[in-house]
Amino acid sequence: MGQKMETKMYCQTGKGAFIAVFEELKSEEWYSMEAKPLPPEKPAQKQSFFQKLGLAFSSKPTTTTYNPPKKHVKGAFFIGDMKCPFCGNKSFVKCGSCGELTCFPEGGKRFKCIPCGNEGEISGTISDMDGDVNNDRKSDSSLSRPEQRKNGPTLR
Ligand SMILES: [Zn+2]
Ligand SMILES: [Zn+2]
Repeated sequence: MGQKMETKMYCQTGKGAFIAVFEELKSEEWYSMEAKPLPPEKPAQKQSFFQKLGLAFSSKPTTTTYNPPKKHVKGAFFIGDMKCPFCGNKSFVKCGSCGELTCFPEGGKRFKCIPCGNEGEISGTISDMDGDVNNDRKSDSSLSRPEQRKNGPTLR
């Protein structure tokens, strides 16, 4: 409990993506609490004059985009106070094909996945998600140190 998970979601209108913040309010029960807008993705740049003149070396590897390490989280997922910052939808669907999340209207039966274009009917509920988990209770790991007792009790 008390953990937070951030995962990227897309608006079904195609207006953009945002970060959904889930909070584990009960054990293995995750509630979406907050939507943090992502900066708009840069439109494809027109060819620069470097490309017209010749091929330029890349100055840096292009791995500096938002791409946090992901963790697999299991449990039940509920909609809390969060709604889609672009269209106000309060329901979300996980694509069975690519696993990305897209908003959809409440009561909707079909969804369209923005990142991969998959379309289909909605069935079942989400039981796992990949997200970036911020564990606020890092000290917990120090509680389990089974190595200490491997020689048996050392009472004198
Ligand atoms: Zn939306
Ligand atoms: Zn998809």
